[in-house]
Amino acid sequence: MGQINATTCQDCGHHFELRLGGGFIAQVVFCEDCGRGEAVFHGGKSLGERDDEPGWSGRCPRCHGRLSLRARARCPRCRSTRLDVDEEPTVLWD
Ligand SMILES: [Zn+2]
Ligand SMILES: [Zn+2]
Repeated sequence: MGQINATTCQDCGHHFELRLGGGFIAQVVFCEDCGRGEAVFHGGKSLGERDDEPGWSGRCPRCHGRLSLRARARCPRCRSTRLDVDEEPTVLWD
């Protein structure tokens, strides 16, 4: 199950919605460059769980940066990683 949480950037105060987690067919992976979360469809298997597939990566559709399981969520405005994520998700998705 994935979710969307209201998030506030601690550095610039920007307010945005952050997609987190994964469902049965998709998992959110972050871009190393812009920090945007992208739902990646993996057809049922969890990404990056196996040791022989370290740091699964793809391409970010927005900036063509690298999507990585190790990348962290960033503020879309100033790219800060210091984010206040609301505990309560606003939307749940599968
Ligand atoms: Zn910011
Ligand atoms: Zn990107």
